[in-house]
Amino acid sequence: MSTAAAYAVSGPDGPFEKVTIERRDLGPHDVSIDVKYAGICHSDIHTARNEWGGAKYPCVPGHEIAGIVAAVGSAVTRHGVGDRVGVGCMVDSCGRCAPCLDGNEQYCERGAVMTYNTAVDETVQAGGVTLGGYSTQIVVTENFVLAIPEGIGLDVAAPLLCAGITTYSPLRHWNAGPGKQVAIIGMGGLGHVGVRIAAALGAEVTVLSQSLRKREDGLRFGASGYYATADRQTFKDLRNRFDLIINTVSADLPLDNYLKLLKVDGTLVALGLPENPASIRPYLLASYRRSLSGSMIGGIAETQEMLNFCAKHGIGAEIELISADEIDAAYDRVVASDVQYRFVIDAGTI
Ligand code: NAP
Ligand code: ZN
Repeated sequence: MSTAAAYAVSGPDGPFEKVTIERRDLGPHDVSIDVKYAGICHSDIHTARNEWGGAKYPCVPGHEIAGIVAAVGSAVTRHGVGDRVGVGCMVDSCGRCAPCLDGNEQYCERGAVMTYNTAVDETVQAGGVTLGGYSTQIVVTENFVLAIPEGIGLDVAAPLLCAGITTYSPLRHWNAGPGKQVAIIGMGGLGHVGVRIAAALGAEVTVLSQSLRKREDGLRFGASGYYATADRQTFKDLRNRFDLIINTVSADLPLDNYLKLLKVDGTLVALGLPENPASIRPYLLASYRRSLSGSMIGGIAETQEMLNFCAKHGIGAEIELISADEIDAAYDRVVASDVQYRFVIDAGTI
């Protein structure tokens, strides 16, 4: 066992407090990482505040992790001491089911082991629950450790481990590219990275944000259109416009209004995971053969592909770097849509 400093909540009302946690001894395939930066994803907030139910306390969130390899187990071949590496939302999966064999570990039929809040054997994590990246150190099996290419700063790379792959995977799956009209709903952490990636893929990108407040940034990220969803005219102007709409909004939305913006055979993809069920009018699917789908992060190989793509295209997250004692305040700002565009914790302050 080794010990690490971490920030944890002991209940849904917080606050975050500094704690000491244990990390397992290195197994032959394990990599020990000195965490340098950890992004704050809205999923961390949903979990820490128990908005999805099932939160296990004390909870150490954090699945946008960038750091440096400190030590490797005897059989590790993929990473070496001193390497720049990242860890995303998963730290293991069964490796044997059809989705795992297809490289879709996130859809593991036995349930992927998520980076935090997943029940595991005490030998994996003391306390029996995975603890995430708001900590100084983490131990992860080598196949779930990603290489962060030279050319992206570790601080702006950290959010790519969730926000990057979560938008990249559906954009690729639904063939966003030249000639495709893509809309991104919500320009927060996921949304702003999604705009950059969709534009780099060659798609024509439109942002659907609550207001025009962040319009200049959206155009700078690569969007060619930017509309306020508070303006009813938006829904008239953009009717039947899009091949693909990516919904990154963390709150309930009137989905019918957005389905009407899809052209024939268009797809609306749910990425945002509000706690409440959604309702739609089936007629809006039938009338233009539209699809409503969803997507969960992405597989490990695809995550590496995304990191390489982002390095090639100079894509990182736009971040506000904070110290660990500012996490509670940062959560409140994320919930108020007041983030530009991802909070990242400097792990040196933990
Ligand atoms: P975020 O930074 O808070 O961004 C969400 C954006 O949604 C906000 O910036 C805001 O954009 C918009 N929004 C928020 N409240 C709204 C409301 N009441 N009405 C309309 N728009 C609203 O969150 P995030 O980290 O990007 O995560 C977004 C969601 O994706 C969360 O639910 C998270 O749990 C989920 N998620 C899913 C996956 C997956 O694998 N599917 C992975 C990661 C995260 P504007 O200011 O531009 O309107
Ligand atoms: Zn996330």
